[in-house]
Amino acid sequence: MPARAAELPRRASVIVIGGGVIGCSVAYHLARSGRSDVLLLERRQITSGTTWHAAGLLGQLRQSVTMTNLARYTSELYGRLEQETGQPTGYRRCGSLSVTADPERFEELKRGASLAKVVGLQVDVVTAKAIGERVPLLETSDLLGGLHIPGDGYANPTNVTLALAAGARAAGARIVEQVPVTAVRTAGGRVVGVTTEQGDIDADCVVLCAGMWTRELAASIGVNVPLHACEHYYVRFGSIEGLDSKLPIVRDYDAISYFRYDAGELIVGVFEPNARPWGMDGIPDDFCFDEIAVNREHFEPLLRGARERMPALQSADVVQLFCGPESFTPDVRYHVGQAPECENCFVAAGLNSIGIQSAGGIGKVISEWILEGHPPADLWEVDVRRNMPFQGNRKYLRERVSESLGLLYAMHYPYRQFETARGTRRSPLHDRLEAAGACHGELAGWERPNWYAPAGVQALYEYSYGRQNWFEYSAAEHRAVRENVGLFDQSSFAKFRLEGRDAARVLNRVCANDVDVGSGRIVYTQWLNERGGIEADLTVTRLAEDSFLIVTAATTEVRDFHWLKAHIPGDAHCVLTNVTSAMGVISLMGPASRALLQSLTPANLANEAFPFATSREIELGYGLVRASRITYVGELGWELYVPSEFTTGVYDEIVAAGEELDLVHAGFHALDSLRIEKAYRHWGHDITDQDWPLEAGLGFAVKFDKPGGFMGREALLRQKENGLAKRLVQFRLQDPRPLIYGNEPIWLRDEIAGYVTSGNYGHSLGAAVGLGYVAMSLLPDFPELPGRFEIEVAGVRVPAEASIRPMYDPAGKRVRS
Ligand SMILES: Cc1cc2nc3c(=O)[nH]c(=O)nc-3n(C[C@H](O)[C@H](O)[C@H](O)COP(=O)(O)OP(=O)(O)OC[C@H]3O[C@@H](n4cnc5c(N)ncnc54)[C@H](O)[C@@H]3O)c2cc1C
Repeated sequence: MPARAAELPRRASVIVIGGGVIGCSVAYHLARSGRSDVLLLERRQITSGTTWHAAGLLGQLRQSVTMTNLARYTSELYGRLEQETGQPTGYRRCGSLSVTADPERFEELKRGASLAKVVGLQVDVVTAKAIGERVPLLETSDLLGGLHIPGDGYANPTNVTLALAAGARAAGARIVEQVPVTAVRTAGGRVVGVTTEQGDIDADCVVLCAGMWTRELAASIGVNVPLHACEHYYVRFGSIEGLDSKLPIVRDYDAISYFRYDAGELIVGVFEPNARPWGMDGIPDDFCFDEIAVNREHFEPLLRGARERMPALQSADVVQLFCGPESFTPDVRYHVGQAPECENCFVAAGLNSIGIQSAGGIGKVISEWILEGHPPADLWEVDVRRNMPFQGNRKYLRERVSESLGLLYAMHYPYRQFETARGTRRSPLHDRLEAAGACHGELAGWERPNWYAPAGVQALYEYSYGRQNWFEYSAAEHRAVRENVGLFDQSSFAKFRLEGRDAARVLNRVCANDVDVGSGRIVYTQWLNERGGIEADLTVTRLAEDSFLIVTAATTEVRDFHWLKAHIPGDAHCVLTNVTSAMGVISLMGPASRALLQSLTPANLANEAFPFATSREIELGYGLVRASRITYVGELGWELYVPSEFTTGVYDEIVAAGEELDLVHAGFHALDSLRIEKAYRHWGHDITDQDWPLEAGLGFAVKFDKPGGFMGREALLRQKENGLAKRLVQFRLQDPRPLIYGNEPIWLRDEIAGYVTSGNYGHSLGAAVGLGYVAMSLLPDFPELPGRFEIEVAGVRVPAEASIRPMYDPAGKRVRS
């Protein structure tokens, strides 16, 4: 039996808040890793929040290698949990079938099957005929085919959670029910324990696993966990003739439906595109094993597709129509990791209807993170540090989660944009760029021009896995930058200033490159952790003896700011300020950028007077702008940092002068195509906290011998001595037709050698280009590469050229011209 409130200890090393499947898995993994004084507190009863009513589907194939690995581990764990704990789990390895009648969806499924090969998950592409033979209840006449995953299955969510709790207790954890945590206690910026009605309990570390309650609980200590509950439905059908207990899980994404056998009945769930947020005014205090009143008008039409796919449902009995709350997040990815706002506060919440199938993996990584002090894998896509403060706003969440739920079963098209809660962060140039034809995409809340529609063309996406409607427009932007001059609005850059007597010393310790340079110099650098992994990738500009401008990506604004802040010693004389909103950034890139900019400023822009990697304040129209000669596209160019209130005026001057030179507006799709040809790494994809600079080919930006050293130096020296394990390589497909988007397997001599970390079409190189790591053991003659690489695209292996040096302008002459 679980422990009762009376037995509450006064101290625990880790307190886990919430006894759903996530909290129990975290406690299980922590306890089994040797943390015996783990305490889990549950306000009511274990599973009484969302967990008890889940359908229990256990899918393993996700959209990335890491997420697939975590889901896969979960299935493996559930497969052995009953034997290990003696608690039945209802685990059945019945396999799954994903079916489709849509050619684009079939392509998506096949791309998924290719990804599965990277992690060694068996996924078979099957025909409509094979699907019909396996599940005669399905209407298959319109199907094109699907995927069969033999290792998928289902489990009973309540029993799995009880088994995790039993396993945790057996390993020494204490699980106490009927004890709501009324407050999380903090002191000096770190968590020190919790408050309950029975008193305070001290702890070294707290993990927030409170499901849909997590946003409020986290907000009470200034931690941002953007999630919100939505109504989530399934229906249980009885008396279906021909229903087979061996029925695999069936997913028909086109019909937004799944089908699962359950004790002689069939559960059919749906993922509607217009979900209904729930609990906006607060979750009832007494919520415990509760359901939500079913809105039939909303739900009934959603079943149409499922009834067409399985005609027997037309006459089957509806045994139960169920609606329960589940948390959804703004980007449909869950939240794990250490909260940046508060030391030793961990989060595992916002499960977007995949909490049962994700819990094992989440428990494992959170436990390892706590015990080892760092994430055990690249978890950036679900890292709680990716969230922007405004994303916790109720209005934003209400609008966004109504879309999030449906995206689980929607097409996951490349470049797909959210439709709700848009226009949250706009550059000063937003309206002007829209007038110039910009089709804005969203990133970290920023509206950013991704491509420009020519006159007469609507700036709207038409999605596809093939060439989308903007492909040729973006190609023209790309060419304009390579051959002439293009204007990018990069105002979404995150910008910080570090100022003070000790700024140079502090920053130089955090940067792997030497930033103790003369004023006006720009340094490209990584920030490393003690293991040598890349925490951030950015530029540092020395503004003055005691002042630095740090420019990083929009998505890493929160992460990078807190990383630096956390590494400023308490007695150091320097202040870090986020100045993102203070400046717009207009970039002029391309061989004609000098002529254009020179026509607008008295400053001397000649190569000798204004060399690459330098920065200076210049007059431009009425404005004083910081011109930084740096580039992410591999051409001559300047990033202009303009005080916000001057940005539109400066832009107008540039555009007017640019007419004569055929200045072209260019978007972020072109920018990415340009950077990948030059093999510029993209943090979060090509380089992460699990990748080292030497393996990433960034050794040129590491200054081993600078005075004072830097964080991660010793780890890099050890690695240098022991030899590298892998190396980032650039690939170009030999066939100009297929497109790659990341996660495609890299083949070498009939062996999977790695996977593509980022991919795009290279318009100058005339084919798709990708980056990806290859094990050094497969590259015996490095830096010479064997010539027999292939990239697998939707099941087809396409020969690819490979190179260690950038295929475009390997000597970097254009940048320095
Ligand atoms: C209809 C439906 C079908 C689903 N089907 C599937 C499926 O097939 N597969 C799948 O993988 N997922 C499925 N899910 C999703 C899955 O149920 C959830 O993702 C998962 O249960 C979330 O677990 P959790 O531990 O985060 O939250 P919860 O189960 O809600 O647990 C959080 C716990 O925290 C407790 N708590 C809150 N505040 C406090 C406090 N202050 N002090 C102490 N305790 C507190 C709560 O009482 C609660 O027990 C489904 C969900 C729904 C609604």
